[in-house]
Amino acid sequence: MESTFPTRGIILNRRDWREADRLVSVYTPEHGRLNLLARGARKMGSKLAAHLEPITLSNFLVVKGKGYDYVGAAVIEEPYLGIKQDLNKLYFAGQAFMLFNRLVREAQPDPELFAWLEKWLCNLDAAREKLDKEDGRFRLALFSWRLLALLGFGPRLDKCVSCGGILSAGRNRFDVSLGGLICDACAAKPRQEVVNGSLIPVSDNMIKLLRLVDGNGVKNMKFSPRLLKEWENLNLRLLNWNES
Ligand SMILES: [Zn+2]
Repeated sequence: MESTFPTRGIILNRRDWREADRLVSVYTPEHGRLNLLARGARKMGSKLAAHLEPITLSNFLVVKGKGYDYVGAAVIEEPYLGIKQDLNKLYFAGQAFMLFNRLVREAQPDPELFAWLEKWLCNLDAAREKLDKEDGRFRLALFSWRLLALLGFGPRLDKCVSCGGILSAGRNRFDVSLGGLICDACAAKPRQEVVNGSLIPVSDNMIKLLRLVDGNGVKNMKFSPRLLKEWENLNLRLLNWNES
């Protein structure tokens, strides 16, 4: 007898497989990321294909297979049409998914991460049409920062990660090797474990913004293009550090 299980899942991407099939990468709350075989999904008139588009939340019945598990049935729960019908939203969703695919490994369940991905998509879907570029960049920076934090790469922001002392304004830095903000005095001390390129200067406004973000106080926030650029650079440094 075949063994099956039901799950909700967000379709991350798909690729052609053999002559008529597709391999679909799906992020689920209870099973993490799954690669599922969709048999016959490339055939003309396949009923399954429409329910397996990337950037879609679907309900699945998964059948355990000897090699790949496969899609027994799939029904769309949320197509995110607000994203698919707006090129700018689609661009930023695509960027977010690329990052997600890079960082999130197979079969590591994380319901909190699933909830964050779903919430982020839902907000982007509901945003006003013709999303402007700054708004999109802000949403993407927020996505990256939260993704890194949920995967355990998020730096601590409350006190100096080295001495535990209170941080004072000005001249603070992130030490990516220690995973947090470091005070000026500690940054200046010679340390055995100091690693080349592990210190990133960070402005006071950036620290304030990140504390707000972690406290969920970011609705309708306005800030300068310079601060947004700083955030993007910081995310990139964190990402490169944790991937190398
Ligand atoms: Zn310190």
